[in-house]
Amino acid sequence: ILSTTKNFIPGEPAPRGSKLNTKGWLQEAALRMLLNNLDKEVAENPAELVVYGGRGKAARSHSDFKNITKALQELESDESLLIQSGSPVARIKTWSHSPRVLIANSNLVGNWAHWEHFDDLEKKGLMMYGQMTAGSWIYIGSQGIVQGTYETFYEAFQQHYNGETKGKFVFSSGLGGMGGAQPLAAVLTGACFLGIEVDRSRAEMRLKSKYLDEIYDDIPAAMEALKSSLIEGKARSIALIGNAVDLLPKLLERADFKPSLVTDQTSSHDPTYGYVPQGYSMEQVIHERKANPKKVEQDALKSIGKHLKCLLELKSRGIPTFDYGNNIRAMAKKVGVENAFDIKGFVPEYIRPLFCKGKGPFRFIMLSGEAEDLKKADQALLNLFPNHKDIQRWLSVAPKRISIQGLPARILWLGYGDRLKAGLLLNQMVKTKEISCPVVIGRDHLDCGSVASPYRETESMADGSDAVADWALLNAFGNISSGASWVSFHHGGGVGMGYSLHAGMVIVADGTAEAAERLKRVLTFDPAMGIFRHADAGYDISQKIAEEHMSRAVEPDS
Ligand code: NAD
Repeated sequence: ILSTTKNFIPGEPAPRGSKLNTKGWLQEAALRMLLNNLDKEVAENPAELVVYGGRGKAARSHSDFKNITKALQELESDESLLIQSGSPVARIKTWSHSPRVLIANSNLVGNWAHWEHFDDLEKKGLMMYGQMTAGSWIYIGSQGIVQGTYETFYEAFQQHYNGETKGKFVFSSGLGGMGGAQPLAAVLTGACFLGIEVDRSRAEMRLKSKYLDEIYDDIPAAMEALKSSLIEGKARSIALIGNAVDLLPKLLERADFKPSLVTDQTSSHDPTYGYVPQGYSMEQVIHERKANPKKVEQDALKSIGKHLKCLLELKSRGIPTFDYGNNIRAMAKKVGVENAFDIKGFVPEYIRPLFCKGKGPFRFIMLSGEAEDLKKADQALLNLFPNHKDIQRWLSVAPKRISIQGLPARILWLGYGDRLKAGLLLNQMVKTKEISCPVVIGRDHLDCGSVASPYRETESMADGSDAVADWALLNAFGNISSGASWVSFHHGGGVGMGYSLHAGMVIVADGTAEAAERLKRVLTFDPAMGIFRHADAGYDISQKIAEEHMSRAVEPDS
């Protein structure tokens, strides 16, 4: 490490304010976002470089972390840093408008694309699991998924209960990095929430960040609290500590256990290092994952089978039950639950109509670290979209209920056309100094045109093209060509090895005219990819939008 470069420590907050630690704002943004992903207020386990989603990491090892932060500090404004599964491999001379960082995480050739091979490579220090936004440095804590979860619950309540949420509750398990958004999302719809979590410290983290209202250690106390809130018609979220496979059968025996919506967000995509099998304490599972990983995997799969059977029982009682993107159905099928796929995925059930319109999880982050800047941006966006009911509904509740985790950030689902308007507005606010520092704009990989994931984002596509991953690659290529600030391509996010391929992009609004030009290209192309993908698969709305607007997608208005 050169003496001129600064040493950063994973877990510590990212630098704030206008003083640069690097040679330009794009490099600075990448550095701050990497550090923000690992901020102890944001990441699930910064000491192990784990951000969220089982073992989703931001850097492969501590020495890789150190080398990445060093390379970003030294990187020129016409160079790009190459990251291979969390390790920096080269700095190459490119162009000032090329991405400053190009990231490839966890990609394996098809025949070898399974956990067993990945685990061997990981043990040899050759690979890292990047999840979606962990290895691509655009995670913003549980907030990143809270609006998607809210939109999903909202739509489910619309479809099944005409939008009535009072006196109703959502049941789920898993209150980790992403699953921890469920209690708040349910409460934001006006419903109550009951969730099982095996690791008390995870539930406590949600309590601290105000995503969760209460924690109980036994079923009678939890049910009593839930019932009084249901009777009062007060939206309240409750965690019940224990293993889902121990507690769910007991809940099923109770006459008062009648959820209105049922799902799951345990890390069942990764039976060895994510899901906690029945009969294991937390200490035991941590030890056994190292000592006997095969045994843990087999025990976890058996438990997942039992878990899914409980969900099928709830479905058979007529309760809307859906898979929430953790591959629990495929894992249960591996251990003989043949009808696991009777439960449908959340994308075909509730989210695809949004994807068809290019709508997805736009997010922005204040590099200043100032809450005041976020407040100004929220207000400006409310003013920008006065007639947009969904935006008004979300931005009127989110700032009040979502506490800041790490750098101030906002998730805001926006469609084709609106993402561009929002990006240009934020850039203008940086230019006029209304916002005091540049703003990072990005999105989840879970988006309309960036993923191939047959058990999640591309489940049951109209033309059967669920497993075609060309679209995700084209998304990455298009974002690189359009001038995004960093672009990533990952394998296995959300649903695990062998089940998904997906791309991420981030663009920095630094207030310059050049940034405005890049924003026009990137924020037009990126959501347009969702329209191309769904129009090609035969969805009418996307074909209509494509016919009316697509010339603008390739030739942005200047
Ligand atoms: P995480 O690993 O941070 O959290 C998982 C939680 O489940 C942990 O708190 C763990 O203690 C708990 N858990 C594990 N086994 C359990 C058991 N048997 N009983 C009760 N609790 C148990 O993961 P995350 O980031 O919260 O993601 C959860 C899952 O959702 C993952 O599979 C992830 O890939 C998927 N995911 C879904 C979406 C979406 O939009 N739906 C987005 C991102 C991730």
